[in-house]
Amino acid sequence: MQAQNLDRILKQTNNGERINTLISFDKENELEYMPLTIIKGKNPGTVFAIVAGVHGYEYPPIIAVQELMKEIDTNRLQGTLIILPIANTASFYQRSPFVNPVDGKNLNTTFPGSSSGSITEQIAHWITKEIIPNTEVFLDIHGGDASEDLLPFVCYYNDQEEAKQTEQARLLSEASGMEYIVSYPYNIAKTEPAKYAFKQAVQDGIVALSIEAGKLGTVQSKNVGLIKNAVYNMLSYLGMYKTEKTFAKASRKYLHNQSYVRVHEKGIFYSSVKSGDAVSKDQNIGYITDDFGNTMCQVTSPVSGIVLYKVGTPPVNVGETLFCIGH
Ligand SMILES: [Zn+2]
Repeated sequence: MQAQNLDRILKQTNNGERINTLISFDKENELEYMPLTIIKGKNPGTVFAIVAGVHGYEYPPIIAVQELMKEIDTNRLQGTLIILPIANTASFYQRSPFVNPVDGKNLNTTFPGSSSGSITEQIAHWITKEIIPNTEVFLDIHGGDASEDLLPFVCYYNDQEEAKQTEQARLLSEASGMEYIVSYPYNIAKTEPAKYAFKQAVQDGIVALSIEAGKLGTVQSKNVGLIKNAVYNMLSYLGMYKTEKTFAKASRKYLHNQSYVRVHEKGIFYSSVKSGDAVSKDQNIGYITDDFGNTMCQVTSPVSGIVLYKVGTPPVNVGETLFCIGH
């Protein structure tokens, strides 16, 4: 079975109209579909894609998008919103962190995907072939997953070769009103798999960015509000949506470099450091014990900076990212 063609759905949607539909994939079970909403404003304008639930255990992005879909008034919207409210329904409904439980793959490391692959590969392929070429802005919303403690931030790739798109992503990041703005280095070739959803969009020449807000497998209303404000601010910046609310401009902090601390010993992780905490180089930021409580190793910070995210629950496995420190 061929997944539906987005171009056709967009053409069938009239100005001022909203449609909800299910994109289905080659299926072996009932979970293999993806909800899609198109909201066309009264007047044409920018096409803006919003994706949530690439990781189905990251709830604040999913709930924020639910509220946005309810609130957006087509009479006030100029342009088109393409919304994937839960990109990974199997991960969401089966409460599976990081991966789609049907094939065990992480959707956010599978781009560009494949039309003949497993379900995760098919979803990545559909987003690559249908959403990305049909939008002008691609926003992928994430948060800390079930085990991750995370400081909210907005991020983009610093792609020197697509200077115009990179500048637009930076301006949108600033317009979001979020306090922390993170830029990642971009150094992949055109033919290299992009792996990540919004990196795929960057590779394909689209203005793309990501919001990260939420943590530890629950819905925090503060983070839901943060995400919604950021989206409204971006839409307002693009002239797509006038909001009555005014948002206090947060002081901006730029973090253009990231250092990662990996896990070297499987065990039980202890740390009194939280996301958003400032740490200094060589500071002790935790320790790992074996199953009997014997300390196996101390964890120290390789740099001075701010903890963007960290493992926020006890179990840790070799190779996992224990801390990401922005500086
Ligand atoms: Zn995620």
